[in-house]
Amino acid sequence: MIIGSHVQMKAPLFLEGSVQEALSYGANALMLYTGAPQNTKRRPVSEMRAAEARELMKKHGIPMDRMIIHAPYIINPANSVKPEVAELAVEFLDKEIARTHAIGAKYLVLHPGSFTTADEETGIRTAIAQLNRAALCDDVIICLETMAGKGSEIGRTFEQIEQILSGLDRPECFGVCFDTCHTNDAGYDLTDYDGVLDEFDRIIGLDRLHVIHLNDTKNPRGARKDRHANIGQGTLGFETLYNIASSARTAHIPKILETPYIGKKPPYGEEIRMLKEHRYMPELLAETE
Ligand code: FE
Ligand code: FE
Ligand code: ZN
Repeated sequence: MIIGSHVQMKAPLFLEGSVQEALSYGANALMLYTGAPQNTKRRPVSEMRAAEARELMKKHGIPMDRMIIHAPYIINPANSVKPEVAELAVEFLDKEIARTHAIGAKYLVLHPGSFTTADEETGIRTAIAQLNRAALCDDVIICLETMAGKGSEIGRTFEQIEQILSGLDRPECFGVCFDTCHTNDAGYDLTDYDGVLDEFDRIIGLDRLHVIHLNDTKNPRGARKDRHANIGQGTLGFETLYNIASSARTAHIPKILETPYIGKKPPYGEEIRMLKEHRYMPELLAETE
């Protein structure tokens, strides 16, 4: 099972510390932001201990394409109402692509954005136009994330993701990240994972899928809310998520947990253990302090 979680990237060990954190959870994949997700302040990669991180990954036999980078969510390439926001998004995205490359990672997850006060079609067209301006790199694949459809988010259906992908000048530099909380909240029935994968394959193509965000959700199917829950503690439930984590059809794709901390503690070691052992142990997720 290729499984990991969102991890921190902070002083003094930076990326090396991120890998250490992942290893402490028994993970063999990880995802991180190159700085605070809500701002664009970034430190140079030369200070991030990338070589040490790569060394540690190698020592543990984890290929670098399982270190996934998530772009900050303030990047909104779909904003047609404030073109300067979309422009800033591309400017930052260019740097983020360069950072991902310098780190030695391959997949950069990006939210397709929100149309704000415009409309869905305009948002999609704007996102395509902005992404076509990005300074793409052959070694970095930008993975558009399937969204819940909260507020004015685009990318809540496979059709919309496909529409964006098919408008891109260099589609080979793009792929998809499938978020289980988001797809549920967008209306997909993940109790029929095979059926959803069939639909994904028909509309987008399974070969475009590179990352899975494995989250339970606080909301019922179709709620268009986007609130993550711990594994087994939401409306998807343990068996549905286990089924996704263990499916042979997506076995080669890293599953990344983005579930909430319990109290002040990350739940990832416990959640990974439950999924690996196929055993739901809610007592492991109880708040202790
Ligand atoms: Fe995301
Ligand atoms: Fe996600
Ligand atoms: Zn989310």
